[in-house]
Amino acid sequence: MSIDRGQPDAFLEDAAHYPGGHAAGVVFPKTTNEIAEALKSAASVLPIGAQSSLTGGATPMGELLVATTKMTRVIDRSADRITVQAGMTVAAMQETLAAAGGWFPPAPTFTGACAGGIVSTNAAGAATFKYGSTRDWVDGLVVVLADGTTLDLKRGEHRARNGSIDLMTGRDRISIPLPGYVMPDVPKRSAGYHSAPDMDLVDLFIGAEGTLGVIAEVTFRVLSPVPQSALALIPCRSEPQAFELVMALRHASRDTWRTGNLTGIDVAAIENMDARSIAILREDGADARNDVSFPDDTAVVLLVQVELPADLTAADAYDQIGSALTPGAADSTLVRFCRMLADRDLLDVTELAMPGDRRRAEQLIAIREAVPAGVNRRVGIAKRDIHPEIAKTAADMVVPLDRFTEMMDVYRRGFEDRGLDYAIWGHISDGNVHPNVIPRSYEDVERGKNAILEFGRAATSMGGCPLAEHGVGRNPVKQQLLRQLYGEQGIADMREVKRALDPEWKLSPGVIFGKLTL
Ligand SMILES: Cc1cc2nc3c(=O)[nH]c(=O)nc-3n(C[C@H](O)[C@H](O)[C@H](O)COP(=O)(O)OP(=O)(O)OC[C@H]3O[C@@H](n4cnc5c(N)ncnc54)[C@H](O)[C@@H]3O)c2cc1C
Repeated sequence: MSIDRGQPDAFLEDAAHYPGGHAAGVVFPKTTNEIAEALKSAASVLPIGAQSSLTGGATPMGELLVATTKMTRVIDRSADRITVQAGMTVAAMQETLAAAGGWFPPAPTFTGACAGGIVSTNAAGAATFKYGSTRDWVDGLVVVLADGTTLDLKRGEHRARNGSIDLMTGRDRISIPLPGYVMPDVPKRSAGYHSAPDMDLVDLFIGAEGTLGVIAEVTFRVLSPVPQSALALIPCRSEPQAFELVMALRHASRDTWRTGNLTGIDVAAIENMDARSIAILREDGADARNDVSFPDDTAVVLLVQVELPADLTAADAYDQIGSALTPGAADSTLVRFCRMLADRDLLDVTELAMPGDRRRAEQLIAIREAVPAGVNRRVGIAKRDIHPEIAKTAADMVVPLDRFTEMMDVYRRGFEDRGLDYAIWGHISDGNVHPNVIPRSYEDVERGKNAILEFGRAATSMGGCPLAEHGVGRNPVKQQLLRQLYGEQGIADMREVKRALDPEWKLSPGVIFGKLTL
């Protein structure tokens, strides 16, 4: 059977709206062999999943697009593993797993993303604090190399030794030299090729953004049962108060995981929204629309996801909340959580969505999502009304938590010194936030880019990573941040890795680092 072909017109842009997309064509393989067939015959190839990339990495620049949208089969499943074709979406995988009581914990916010896409960008979700990023859940990959060779890789089978990873493909030996840089020690990283002294070959393809091979199948570890969660929307009166609460929740949760205490506080994710984000919610009426009201003195809103025992009934959960402040109330996760809020005089202003109350949970999540949506809309309006080259100008950086407040000062000072309007929100439980410019002119975009490069230098000097979860793609500022992080030598080392696996520079040229000029 020959490979399905189509018109590329609908695939010339990803979610970053990177300009100038054009393609040699698009093919829709249904099998690994068909991917190999496409790779053997094309001069250059860009693999794509759902094109939800925020970096331009899924925008073609003349390549043949290999779209995985027809590769949506579950290949194998056991109690703690699932093997899927690369085009299966996270949402479809969660649905399949849920039917047997399982789930995939590190799911990113956008669940329309495909297995191949989340692996290629090492995507991370809000719950990285508890569950890590996609990398931690990948157990095996089927990858097609640029020359059409298929590798069936299981974690643990190919490890680096003496500075390289060696493997046999048919009768050929490939020796992949490891980059010499040391990666920042942070919970999220989507910043070029993974490199560690005894690393696994599987890890090289995770986060490689399609530049080293096309992922055809992925084996993920999964968990069961699906935990119940309560959500708490907590308006804090100051940043120090919010940060102190975040640290207390993180500390208590780690204690619970270490001791296995069944009644301990167990937080999977904490999201934050700053004062400007709150103002945007109010300006857009998102608070009223979702039946939420914040006190006038709110400086930061936290959205906390607390995990609860799978067998807790809704009635028991409400009883526990009702009795939390009563002396002698039975110990439980919810009782401890409520007391922690009450100790800080925050319980009365907190909005709770109890397990099973889907509608309330959706409203609280909608509040969080209304912030990026509100900022993106303002960028769109500025682009339409003020200058056509106005674009989203945002950072995605992570620093070790003990440097977080210092880094927030850097973000603020960098924007304010340049007279910029901005909002900052994100995944505070990981020290990863998204500082966004709200541009009022094209000059604001240029000034914002300079600020972001300055932030990158500061994050790097603090042991953080200037590229946390979205990857590098074709975005010139992100590529510059990568150079700042690892230096020109680091980029040269990555080129050597690519040269070993893709000597003709066929896969995703221009993604992560610029095209090789000989
Ligand atoms: C509303 C919204 C919310 C988001 N939330 C998050 C979030 O919470 N966390 C997060 O990490 N990201 C998030 N993202 C970014 C994006 O969803 C992720 O980067 C995602 O992993 C991309 O998956 P995709 O299937 O859309 O891949 P694409 O966008 O199609 O591709 C992304 C990159 O992977 C490569 N690629 C795709 N498929 C393959 C394959 N089979 N083999 C080899 N390379 C491949 C592409 O070439 C490209 O470089 C969000 C994006 C949007 C629009």
